[in-house]
Amino acid sequence: MWRQLVLLAILFALLVGCSFNQSGETSERLHRREDISRGHVVHQGDDEGEPQEVGDTEGEGRTQSNVVDNVTLQKLYPNVLALHGPGDENVIALTFDDGPDPTYTLPLLDLLKKEGVKATFFVLGSRVHDHPELLRQVAARGHSIGNHTYTHKKLVELDEQELAEEIELAEKVISDVIGRKPRMLRAPHGFLNEEVMDSLHERNVSVIGWSIDSLDWQEPPVEELVENVMGQASPGGIVLHHDGAGNLSTMLEAVEQEIQQLKAEGYSFVTVPELLDIPGMN
Ligand SMILES: [Zn+2]
Repeated sequence: MWRQLVLLAILFALLVGCSFNQSGETSERLHRREDISRGHVVHQGDDEGEPQEVGDTEGEGRTQSNVVDNVTLQKLYPNVLALHGPGDENVIALTFDDGPDPTYTLPLLDLLKKEGVKATFFVLGSRVHDHPELLRQVAARGHSIGNHTYTHKKLVELDEQELAEEIELAEKVISDVIGRKPRMLRAPHGFLNEEVMDSLHERNVSVIGWSIDSLDWQEPPVEELVENVMGQASPGGIVLHHDGAGNLSTMLEAVEQEIQQLKAEGYSFVTVPELLDIPGMN
C-alpha cells in the first residue's frame, strides 16, 4: 500500500515537472513570435560573431524574419536590384564589404594592383570617417566605391527616418573624402524587403547583391574558401568578399589564388558599374 502511494507520488511529481517544462517552452515560443511580429531580430543560428565597433557584421544574425529573399525581389525590381551581370562575356566582379579597414584594405589593394584587377568596395560610412586616407587610396587606385550604410544596421528593421540617416550619413562622409557620391548600395547582410526596396528605388540608387558568396568572414581554410568561389563562378558573376568583417585571416591568400585560377579559366575582372553598365558615382 505505502509502496503504491510512493509510486503514485513519484508519478505525480514527474507529470507536474513535464507540464511545467512544456508551459515554459510554450511561453518562450510565444515570446519569440511576438519578437518576430514586432520585427525584432531573431537569431536562429549560433553564428554570432564578436561584438564589433560599429553596428553588426556578417558574422551576426544571418537569418532574419522580415526579409524577402533576393532572388524573389530581383524579379519584382529588375531595374533596381542586381545579383549578377548579363553573363554573355567571360567577366566577373570582385566586391569587398565592410571596410575600409586598417588591417586588410592596404594589403588587399597591393594584391589587386599586382594582379592588375579592379574591384568594387562597399564601404561603411563610420569606417570611412575613421580611416579617410584608406578610402582615398581605394579611389586613387581606380576601384569602384559603393555605399554599405553608416553603421551596418539591418535596413529591414529601420523606420524611414533611420533608413535615411544610415544612407545619407554614409553618402556624405564618402563624398567629403573622394568628392563624389556613390550611386550603388549594398544592404548589410543583403537583408531587404519590398518596403526597403521601394525607398531605395525612390533614392535612385542601384542595389547590388551577389551571386557568389565566399563566406570569408567564417575564416574557412584557404583551399575551402577558394573552392567556395570557384565552385560557383560563372560569367557575369558578382563575388562577395570582405575587407573588414572582424577576422579574415584566410581572405588575402584565398583572393590571390582565386584571381589566378579565374584568370586560368579565361575570366577577366570588371568593376560592378562596368559589369552592369550603370553609373557608380554621381
Ligand atoms: Zn557587410
